[in-house]
Amino acid sequence: MKDLNFRKGDAKTDVFGSDEMLQPAPVDKIPDGPTTPQIAYQMVKDETFAQTQPRLNLATFVTTYMDDYATKLMNEAININYIDETEYPRIAVMNGKCINIVANLWNTPEQEKWKSGALAIGSSEACMLGGVAAWLRWRKRRKEAGKPYDKPNFVISTGFQVVWEKFAQLWQIEMRQVPLTLDKTTLDPEEALKMCDENTICIVPIQGVTWTGLNDDVEALDKAVDAYNAKTGNEVCIHVDAATGGFILPFLNPEVKWDFRLKWVLSISTSGHKFGLVYPGLGWVVWKDKKYLPDEMSFSVNYLGANITQVGLNFSRPAAQILGQYYQFIRLGFEGYKAIQYNSMEITKYLHEQIGKMTPFVNYSNEVVNPLFIWYMKPEYDKNAKWTLYDLQDKLKQSGWMVPAYTLPENIQNYVVMRIVVRQGFSRDMADMLLNDINNAIADLEKLEYPTPTRISINKQEEIKGSVFTHTGSGKKVK
Ligand SMILES: *Cc1c(COP(=O)(O)O)cnc(C)c1O
Repeated sequence: MKDLNFRKGDAKTDVFGSDEMLQPAPVDKIPDGPTTPQIAYQMVKDETFAQTQPRLNLATFVTTYMDDYATKLMNEAININYIDETEYPRIAVMNGKCINIVANLWNTPEQEKWKSGALAIGSSEACMLGGVAAWLRWRKRRKEAGKPYDKPNFVISTGFQVVWEKFAQLWQIEMRQVPLTLDKTTLDPEEALKMCDENTICIVPIQGVTWTGLNDDVEALDKAVDAYNAKTGNEVCIHVDAATGGFILPFLNPEVKWDFRLKWVLSISTSGHKFGLVYPGLGWVVWKDKKYLPDEMSFSVNYLGANITQVGLNFSRPAAQILGQYYQFIRLGFEGYKAIQYNSMEITKYLHEQIGKMTPFVNYSNEVVNPLFIWYMKPEYDKNAKWTLYDLQDKLKQSGWMVPAYTLPENIQNYVVMRIVVRQGFSRDMADMLLNDINNAIADLEKLEYPTPTRISINKQEEIKGSVFTHTGSGKKVK
């Protein structure tokens, strides 16, 4: 007898011979009944099939390659909830070990067995925790001195990552921005201090500015802060947003002082899922000492044979990233991390040099201090070009590359730039393929008879403003 149900979804159903494959995937309503796991898997998988290959995504800072053992470990821990410390006490201990290792990479002076720090979903949560701690410390001081504590502010450059705007909005803390310009490409310590007063909870220098890849000079800032505090009696401190640099500087530039060796650096945050080399989402924040982590923020867990401090905005959250981070520390060691970061830097420098040699382009900065850099069109080329970097972005997308074009922050927002972030998993050979694709794309774009729509829109803006670089911009925030 013929089985007429074979298309409906049972063990015999061929995925692409099923009824489901003839129907649109659900958008608004849950389907009436179940289907087989094979069919459900295929539908979900196929929806993401056409996207960029993660390793060709040169826009992201976030890890897109881990070795097979790391991947296995993390997959095996996919059902573990970090917060269930009673059931999985070793995870909490492992988390404490990771915080210790990170704190020591940043030269913490803290003598406790378990250093003061916290796990986060990424730098965003880690920055938020560092900022809240600075705010609560300031508030306590103000209360004790009988002074008003309703108008806190913090100081940062216009190169801030969007999380700091969220921090300002969510906690209602005024964000005072030091402008970046073409001459001042990083945070100017003197300008930063001019914006400080008794209500300043902290200054936030960045190691690896998201927009440019550059580092703010934390040592110079610390010196200036020290002089300022001595003169004014204020207690302005520093939180370093080291989302990128936190895992680059300790390995490649250990002599550069940007961390807890500096007097006023009281907290530092980083992304474990950026150059900490772990899949998303993982961040770390560390305080110089327990006394800088306000009591209101820390919850002690004392059934582990040691007192482990728990801080964080989330309750339930995945634990797999902690295993991934601890694995990477053991697997790579200091020298292994150094070798990977070194390669990423060398490939970045190679790309920086090659792109700098291309006729249409000029690099934003001569130095490469993190594994990323930006470039823009030479003014004299830009004047006559029929295309823009947005067109180049589209062209490269056709070969599978994601290389973002965007406009710089306020004051230098007329610059359309392009950025490459090099991560583990990007080899010299891939760099050559990319350069080749860029050269081919330029050759095609140079053959254009008429200007592209983005070029027309730029030229229109120029007529209005009389500037070579003006562009309407996408207004999009870079990640
Ligand atoms: C990436 C980044 C952030 C946000 O980090 P996530 O890990 O994506 O949450 C914050 N600050 C800087 C400087 C960054 O580069």
